[in-house]
Amino acid sequence: MLKGKTALVTGSTSGIGLGIAQALAAQGANIIANGFGDAEGAQRQIESAGTGIRVGYHGADMSKAAEIEDMMRYADSEFGGADILVNNAGIQHVANIEDFPVERWDAIIAINLTSAFHTTRLALPGMRSKDWGRIINIASAHGLVGSAQKSAYVAAKHGIVGLTKVTALETAQTGITANAICPGWVLTPLVQKQVEARAAREGIAVEQAKRELVLEKQPSGQFVTPEELGALAVFLSGEAARQVRGAIWNMDGGWVAQ
Ligand code: NAD
Repeated sequence: MLKGKTALVTGSTSGIGLGIAQALAAQGANIIANGFGDAEGAQRQIESAGTGIRVGYHGADMSKAAEIEDMMRYADSEFGGADILVNNAGIQHVANIEDFPVERWDAIIAINLTSAFHTTRLALPGMRSKDWGRIINIASAHGLVGSAQKSAYVAAKHGIVGLTKVTALETAQTGITANAICPGWVLTPLVQKQVEARAAREGIAVEQAKRELVLEKQPSGQFVTPEELGALAVFLSGEAARQVRGAIWNMDGGWVAQ
């Protein structure tokens, strides 16, 4: 379905980004991966999800505008540009506002929000010249509702919801769409840290902490999976979704229905 398209997925060495990159690869898209950690391992996993596709990698730190610019130049020169842009890289820090480290606030706003402004502004000219593009911002249930101790994250995710709407409006009469996906809990390294912190804080087993964490927010009592999010990203990338514009699409086990 996506043969001949190139998808750039930020933060695709792990978790949701890796799942989305694999799902897009399975539809025939070339992939540009990004993120820290085991980049080669991630590239191999993405490659084996598709057939006859090209997988590249750029290690830009998404908190640095100059490195993002370099990554977008790499996408242009090596792949003819990013047709599908998935802004996914993100980090978390949990603390009350008065205890929140200022440098953590700055890092979360830079990685979870400002990076998407940079990739979007740099991808749009190429998408406009082809009159085709898909921008998929990975927001969160926290783009729609708040939770205590997550001020920077909730602010960044509400911000990216706003950025998505404006991007959709500015491209409304083109073949470019912009939408946001708002996952609930997904058991990735980002959440595993919160599970372990909860188990330690409450003196309970990790399995129990996992159950409590999900049930506190998600009526389904079940985690969302990267594969399920990948399937939604595939739909949003396809032709059937060409009039889905500015949607803020939660996949959260009922979290924000409450
Ligand atoms: P993860 O920790 O598994 O993956 C995060 C990815 O981002 C990794 O590839 C990491 O290397 C990359 N990354 C982090 N800092 C970076 C930087 N400065 N530059 C480049 N890459 C960087 O986390 P995840 O749970 O898969 O989260 C992915 C996205 O989904 C995030 O935006 C997160 O906020 C969002 N999200 C996650 C959940 C969840 O429950 N896991 C829920 C809602 C939204």
